[in-house]
Amino acid sequence: MLKCLRCGASCGDDEPIWRCPDCGGHLDHITEKLLSISPEEIKRGPLSMWRYSKTMPVRSPEKAVTMGEGLTPLIPVELDGVKPLVKMDFLCPTGSYKDRGISVLVSRLRELGITSLIEDSSGNAGAAMAAYCTAGGLNCSVYVPDYTSAGKCVQIEAYGAELIRVPGTREDTTDAAMAAARETYYGSHNWSPWFVEGVKTFAYEIWEQLGWTAPDHLVLPLGQGSLVLGAYRALSELRDMGLIDHIPKIHGVQSANCAPLARAYESGLDVPENITKAETVAEGISSATPLRGAEVLEAVKRSRGSIVAVDEKPIVEGIFALASRGIYVEPTSAVVVPGISKLMESGAISKGETTVVFLSGSGLKATDKILELRRKIK
Ligand SMILES: [Zn+2]
Repeated sequence: MLKCLRCGASCGDDEPIWRCPDCGGHLDHITEKLLSISPEEIKRGPLSMWRYSKTMPVRSPEKAVTMGEGLTPLIPVELDGVKPLVKMDFLCPTGSYKDRGISVLVSRLRELGITSLIEDSSGNAGAAMAAYCTAGGLNCSVYVPDYTSAGKCVQIEAYGAELIRVPGTREDTTDAAMAAARETYYGSHNWSPWFVEGVKTFAYEIWEQLGWTAPDHLVLPLGQGSLVLGAYRALSELRDMGLIDHIPKIHGVQSANCAPLARAYESGLDVPENITKAETVAEGISSATPLRGAEVLEAVKRSRGSIVAVDEKPIVEGIFALASRGIYVEPTSAVVVPGISKLMESGAISKGETTVVFLSGSGLKATDKILELRRKIK
């Protein structure tokens, strides 16, 4: 079932709608019956995120559009005197975690008979959409802001998608895509009720990798908030199934130059604060008006987590701190490095607690930007 987050209307999930037919609000996928999975069953499943397919809204998982996404390593890394576990999700097939959500989204849309769609993205989701549409036999046009890294644009076009660069802000890109989508299907990962159903699998994996237990904290890059929403969804499902006894504290990390959710969290607001954003190296989380901001704030609050904002210089230092440990991620992912330091300083996270930080995108996508940053530092 799909439920509108604005007016509460519900409708069946067997139509390829992407927003509420009554009020235009966001739709959320609701699982009507209690889910049921067991470690034994999961261990017998495919060696990809599709081992959790019983928790996904895809009718025929055996026909899914998949390239083996998920099951990324979880490794300990020493950072600034603390030793979190790092979820290496930039190792998914197109170089970002978006593959999880897009694999489910494209699989479900193909089941619903969609053959052509429009997506808009700051880069990574567009690359994932281009790849999975190609793999699944769908046509795809991707709208990106014209400041998007050359690497991501080349990648989108290499998969065979049509690439449209839009001058202006990330929000201008969405407007252009929505206008164009009147003629075809708007497959936006930010609007789709199915995207988060794939993203959530990273939290199931962490549970499996920790020996079927939940960590104490998750530290996630935060823009639109799909990682926060996905984590909260998976962890709530695990709790409801009686498979974990607590929900970890979920902490979001934003760039201070674009921090509508961190500001709202600090001021105790239930909705994102209106902000004027400044440029940030963390382009993947540069979302001034997160579409599901209220839900993200609620999920963080319910998990008893927090949202912090970090400055540009420490983000850049974070890229090279990770690289010096052999981990090459894009600038957006590096926000978690100053993020975890801030959370330790404030006492939100204590030494000895099990903390997982999430690395979302590969540095290979942003080589042009990283080169520029290295030149500035030297
Ligand atoms: Zn509605």
